[in-house]
Amino acid sequence: MTLNEIFCQDTAIESLQHAYAAGRMAHAYLFSGDDGVGKFSAAQAWARMLLCENKQTIRKKPVFIDSCGQCHSCKTFEAGGHPDYRPISKELVQYTKEGKNKKTPVDMPIDVIREFLIERVANRPMMGQFVVYVIDEAEKVNKSSQNAMLKVLEEPPKHCVIILLCSQLEEMLPTTRSRCQLVRFGPVSEARIVERLCAEGVSGTEATFWARFSQGSLGWALAWAQLQIEEKTPFALKKELVERLCSLELAGTIDMAEWMGQTAKKIAAAWTGRAGNVSTTDITRRSQHGLIRMTACAFNDAMKLANGQSAGLVHEDQAGRIGALARQFDAETAARQVEMCCQMHKWVDSSVNEKLIFEQLLLNLSNSDILNSF
Ligand SMILES: [Zn+2]
Repeated sequence: MTLNEIFCQDTAIESLQHAYAAGRMAHAYLFSGDDGVGKFSAAQAWARMLLCENKQTIRKKPVFIDSCGQCHSCKTFEAGGHPDYRPISKELVQYTKEGKNKKTPVDMPIDVIREFLIERVANRPMMGQFVVYVIDEAEKVNKSSQNAMLKVLEEPPKHCVIILLCSQLEEMLPTTRSRCQLVRFGPVSEARIVERLCAEGVSGTEATFWARFSQGSLGWALAWAQLQIEEKTPFALKKELVERLCSLELAGTIDMAEWMGQTAKKIAAAWTGRAGNVSTTDITRRSQHGLIRMTACAFNDAMKLANGQSAGLVHEDQAGRIGALARQFDAETAARQVEMCCQMHKWVDSSVNEKLIFEQLLLNLSNSDILNSF
């Protein structure tokens, strides 16, 4: 991907271009923004441009410089084996000295930062002027590892460019932030996500659902909409989830928890085929988060309807069903359910047993006297 092809992040790309054209290219960047808004694509495209042997001036005012796509460096980059482009993620833990057979943890292990960044920054580029390091999920680099990185961020060797990607800026130490050029990536508008999904062949109704579900994250919207889950589309699965939620009774909670567990597994299996080097643990969490979020959105919609607001519902395509749900309880009760979903979201991150999470979620819902059979 070239910089010119990055979707809807003009402000971020322009700020990079502006500093570069003014001869103030940073050697340490912090790309900040929600998951899926294009930080990783932008970091890749920026790296490809820096490494390109024949940079192109696409526009003079304001200046926009991009990679050529034709030179040896660009071709090597696209083939995936550029020696001067070094993405760093926690999945590398299994390639550290002590990490053989280690499972990928939630946080970025210090060994990865030490062995793949700190101990390597002095290495000269193999092909061109720069070596570009891209650290994914920098918010998961804990405080002591961030401290260990400070010297490198403070004075990287001239040939080094380090890009930290982070979705929770508040997790970064002030000392880390102050050493990096901060580039903010905003959410993509609903209309642009819908437009993009429709261009990929997704129907308008479905595109609107994924755009709202993903809250401005184009990457997530695209990924979800394009998942191939056995016999069903992910949109059909979400419809089934809402149907089941709306007709849930206490006696059916264990069955439904079982169904959610199986569905989470199917989603994870579909994701494994597309997610590159993301660890199995993270893929499992992602699919569990997805189902819990769909549930939370249903209650959030019900809360809105109970308050008389019908615009912008996430499950707009099932507004009738959610409306029936909303009539069963008041907005405050719905708000409590949304809160409980947030709690379950945290349980997923704390690696609580999946069966327990879904059972707890559904028992709470069905015990709250708000769900009757319709
Ligand atoms: Zn090139």
